[in-house]
Parts: sequence; structure tokens; C-alpha cells
Amino acid sequence: MYSEEQQQHLNHLTQQLVKHTGHQSAKQKTEELRQVINYHDWRYYALSQPVILDVDYDKLFKELKDLEKEHPELISPDSPTQRVARGLTDDFKQVSHLVSMLSLDNSYNAEDVLAFDKSVKKLTGAEHVAYCVEPKFDGSSIALVYENDMLIRAATRGDGAVGEDITNNAKALASIPLSAKFSAFGIHKIEIRGEVIIQKEVFERINNERKAKGEKLFQNSRNTASGSLRLKDPNESATRGLEAVLYHVSLAEDKDGKDLLREQLHTHYHTIEVLYKCGFKTPIHELKVCKGADEATEFINLWETKRNTFSIETDGMVIKVNDLKLQQKCGSTTHHPRWAMAYKFQAKQAQSKLIDVEYQVGRTGAVTPVAKIEPVALAGVTISSISLHNEEFIKEKDIHLGDTVIVERAGEVIPYIMGVVPELRDGSQRDIHFPRHCPSCKSELIKTEEEAIWRCDNADCPAQTEERAIHFVSKDALDIDGLGRSIVIDFIERGFIKNLEDIYRLPYDEILKLEGWGEKSVENLKKGIEDAKGRPIWRLINAFGIRLVGVTTSKDIAGHIKEVLDLQKLSLEDLTNIEGIGPKVAQSIYDFFQTESNIHLIKELERLGVNTKNRPEDSLAKNNKLEGKTFLFTGSLQQFNRDRAKQLVEENGGKLLSSVSANLNYLVVGEDAGSKLTKAKKIPSITVLTEDEFLNLIG
Ligand code: AMP
Ligand code: ZN
Repeated sequence: MYSEEQQQHLNHLTQQLVKHTGHQSAKQKTEELRQVINYHDWRYYALSQPVILDVDYDKLFKELKDLEKEHPELISPDSPTQRVARGLTDDFKQVSHLVSMLSLDNSYNAEDVLAFDKSVKKLTGAEHVAYCVEPKFDGSSIALVYENDMLIRAATRGDGAVGEDITNNAKALASIPLSAKFSAFGIHKIEIRGEVIIQKEVFERINNERKAKGEKLFQNSRNTASGSLRLKDPNESATRGLEAVLYHVSLAEDKDGKDLLREQLHTHYHTIEVLYKCGFKTPIHELKVCKGADEATEFINLWETKRNTFSIETDGMVIKVNDLKLQQKCGSTTHHPRWAMAYKFQAKQAQSKLIDVEYQVGRTGAVTPVAKIEPVALAGVTISSISLHNEEFIKEKDIHLGDTVIVERAGEVIPYIMGVVPELRDGSQRDIHFPRHCPSCKSELIKTEEEAIWRCDNADCPAQTEERAIHFVSKDALDIDGLGRSIVIDFIERGFIKNLEDIYRLPYDEILKLEGWGEKSVENLKKGIEDAKGRPIWRLINAFGIRLVGVTTSKDIAGHIKEVLDLQKLSLEDLTNIEGIGPKVAQSIYDFFQTESNIHLIKELERLGVNTKNRPEDSLAKNNKLEGKTFLFTGSLQQFNRDRAKQLVEENGGKLLSSVSANLNYLVVGEDAGSKLTKAKKIPSITVLTEDEFLNLIG
């Protein structure tokens, strides 16, 4: 339908419109908006391969609507705003819906909700309006018709007035009853609406299976649902784990054709209840009937924080006037009902352009590619650089310089590049050439068989020294007050710090002469460094930055030695016998303490006054309530932070793990817990605790 060239042009035009570049008349702009919207409708509905983010689409659509409102003379009968909804493919028989399936108006913040409430009150004359608030399921919409308690038809939304007959495919979905006892409610004929979705977990499983078979992965569950629903072989639809959630009754009649909505089924909530009782999957357990706009907003906010833990993908909430008579008074536009509104959650994804790749050398010499992207705002922060992990990742995702990348950030999670949009390539894209030499010292990089990582092996590499020193003084290591990253870098550049020992022989007289330093700040720095000399040895062990050794392992090791130099005497076998230490970690520790320069470093630090002995007061456990028990924390904790949580476990003799496995006894979940919780639920031996339950456990 669109040629390659046309598509390139329209993609380019879309980007300009989204970014508001290019200045043109209102007339030209409405025309351009219509062109790109029609094109994206086609990609979305006909191909099930959208190349635009929902938020951007919504934005363009809204812009067009606003422009037409401002300039009514520009409205044309074929404008996408004049249609009830988007496009149609003609593979299936077309059927007319009994009642048009409209879209929903969108809102993004509390003010929008208040404005909606105001307009509802104005339209209805009601003083108080109750709203039913429910999740907005991110799937593919369907309409089912039952007559005489039998399913007689299922259809997709299509253009809203006419959809595709997918009755056979719908019958393959176990969640759609073939017959339902509507007659018990006096209902003879009913049309109900809902969403066909794939649960997150099922979607993940399907993709894992496809990956194992070497098949192309599905992009997201919504497209997969809409695609699967229209597969020619209905049996395949069933195997793809589709489910239908029903959330609306658009028509209900008794034997004589009398309308039962409003007179018999008074509220939206009541209709959901009927669906629920007739055996449908509904949002009855998730929804809430709220007294007014404030309560609705509160409920929405609560949901936004826990949407990640919900088993179905949601992109917002829907606020509906609960009373059906009031709904009728509100009426509808050709595009959406005036009695309902969608509230869109903050986007989790954004598109941006990959401008450049920089290579960072870590403290162990690992070279990490970092993507520099055009800054994008996402879930409250502006993102301009993201880790690309390693060379494999770049190859796997087929990332090129100049590519349009999809960035995702969910909850507290570090931003991540989900993939690229190959359709948006314009020919200017370039391959990414991973360097073969260290960007800092130019030594040749090496890569071992089992690792996907390129490393600089030069012990004197300046970039590594810098990262090592920064790590040495950091919070999880020796936690030296007043010696932050930028000061360390400055001191290294001035030659004050050439190796770790130098931290304890800083030329304070010289520092005093530097701009930005005074008596007081130099005193504070001195004090911070002095105070940190007495830290427990697990911190020193962690401070060395031994490969594969973090806080947890450092603590494990510290519990088994009297002083740091004991580690020189431990054999590989001794190390492997320490609980929590596997063969790879043991090898790494062994190598470190068999290296002469490292032993020299420890002796020097000792001479300079740094504690290297295990003292009784350093024992991590103050009692043994949790002895032998393992813990992991996930989600955003409300009552204490991560550090405090760890401390509490350790003080009580428990142990922390870093991932969910059969070795885990307790998973403590805060808000917004994600995949760890899902995984833990599948292992029966793991007990899931709330923060309160955890606190009770330790008394
Ligand atoms: P949009 O496509 O963004 O205009 O949003 C409207 C669509 O949201 C409807 O056509 C439904 O398919 C879908 N939707 C998902 N969950 C709900 C819900 N709980 N109530 C109404 N519509 C919903
Ligand atoms: Zn190097």
C-alpha cells in the first residue's frame, strides 16, 4: 500500500512533527498530520508493526484535533478525526457492531481528571458523580454478542462501526464462555466489549520458546495478541495463551427487545458484576468505585506505583461515570464517549537517536560500550547515555550508529536499550566498530573464551587506576568522607595519587594552596581519611576491587579470617569451601592474593595505619535470630532503605543473596516489585514477606 520511499518520507515527516521542527501554515500542518496518522494506522492495524510510540501517536492525533477545532474550515470528511477509530484489513468477513466501538479521550494528570469531572457535572447537572476506575488493558479490543445464552459472534474493533468476524478464533479462547447464563438476569441479547491480552509471564514464555527455536521474537504482547487473534488457524490462537477480559456492556435487551441498560442494570459496576457472575474474566477485583474526582486520582496514583506487579500489561486507567443514566446524559462525540476518560501512565519507553558510542574502562579493565543518545525525557529523568553492555549485545540487537533506538525505563530500573527500529533507517547508519585497543593506554585488548567482555590487561592503565581509586574510597568500600569521585580524579591528574597508598600520603600543604581549598576543608579531608582507617576488614577487601568480589562476598570472606594477609595462605580449595564462594570467584580471589604487588599494597596500607585485622566489634551479627536464613529485597522499600535492610539482616545473623534461587528463604517485597517476585512465586520454598512482616520477624 505504501512504497518503501513513501514510508521513508512519512517516517521522516513523523519525526519532524513530533519534534515540532519545520514551520508551516495550519493548513499544511493539518494535511501533514493526516498523512502521517493514516500511515501509522496502516502500520498498526494492517501490518501489526507500528513504528511510532503510542504517546507520540496520541500527541499527533491530539494536535490534529486541536488544529481542527481552531480552524473548523480545515476539517475534511476523510480526516482521521472524523472516523470512529482506526483502519481495517479485509481478510475476515466484515460485520457491523450493534453499537459503535469508540475510542477514549486521553488525560495525563490530576488537572485533566478535575476538568473531566467538571465537564461531566456540567453535562449532567449532577452535584456528585461517582466514578468507576479500572485498569486500561493493553491488548486488542473485541466485541462479543450472546443471544439466548449462546455466543453467536465475536468481532474485532475494526474501524469502530465495522469489525472483522473472528468468531472461530474467539471460540478457541478458553476464557470466552461459549454459553453464559445471561437469562438468569432477564437478558436475551447482549453485546459486550473487552480486550484480548496475553499475560506478561505467558508472553515472556512464548518469546523464550521462540528464542530457543531460533524464531523471530515478538515485539510486545499487544501486537502479538492482535496478530494471534486474526490467525487463519484458530487452534494456533489458543496455543498462544490469549485471554479475554470483559469490561463493558454496550447493549442488553430482554425477549421483547426492551433495553435493560439503565432501568435494570443501573450502574457500570453492576454490569461488570453480571459479567463476572456469568463466568467472564473481568476487572472486578481491580476496579474501585470512587466517590469523586479526588478519590479517583488517589486510586490512579496508587495503581501507577504497582502496575509493574500486575500480571497484565496496562497503559493507564479508565475512569467511567458509574451511573448509567448519567452516562446517557453525557452522550458521546463521534470519537469517544463523554462519560469516560483514559488516564495514561507515564511512558516507560521512548525513542531516540544513537549519536555516538564511547568506551569506558572499568577498574578491572573491562571495556564497556556506552551509547550517547539524543537526550530524551522518560519517567521523570532525562537520559542521554546508556550502557550497551558488550560487543555481543550490540550484535544481537543489530545496533548501528544513527539508528533510532527504543529506550525503556521501568520503575527504579536502570534505562535499557530494548532494540532499534530498522524501518526508520535512512541510509546514513554506520556499523559500530568495537575497539581492539584500550582507549586509555592503547594496550591491545583481550577477550577470554568464557566471557563476552574485552579487557585491558595493563596493570598501570591510567583509566583503571582512576576507577580503582574511585571504588576504593566509595560508600560500599572504605567509605572515605570528603573524598568523592571528582576530587579523586583531580588528585590523579595533579599527580598526587599514583597508586592506592598515595591516598594516605596526600601533600596537604600543596592542596591548601589549590583553588577551592581552605584550612577547614583540608582539615575535614584529613579527618575523613584518618577516620576511615579503622573500618572493618570486609570493607578493605571490597575496596581492592577484586574481580567478581562485591560486598556480599567480601563479608563472607571476612568472616573466615583473622587478618587480611591470611588470605595469602588459603588454597583454592580452602576458598571454595567458604560458603557462598564458587570456583570462579575462588580463582579470582586466589589470583589476587598470590600477586606480589597486591601483598605489597596490603603491607604498605597496614604500615600507613589502615586496619587489616578482624576485631571482635566488627562481627556483623549482634544476635542469631536469622541464623542460616537467606534474604533478598526487591521493589521500592518504604520503611527503610537498602543499606539499612542489609544491615538488619546481618545484625541478626542472616545472609543476603543477590538473586532468586532455590537457596533463597525469604524475599522481602517493597512497592513496584517486578520479575524477582514473579520468579520467587514459582519456587515453593521461598516465603514472600512484606516489609512489616520482615520487621516482625526480627522483632
Ligand atoms: P485508545 O485506543 O487509546 O483510544 O483507548 C481506547 C481503548 O482502550 C478502547 O477501545 C479499549 O479497547 C481499550 N480499553 C482497555 N481497557 C479498557 C477499559 N477498562 N475500559 C474501556 N476501554 C478499555
Ligand atoms: Zn588500558
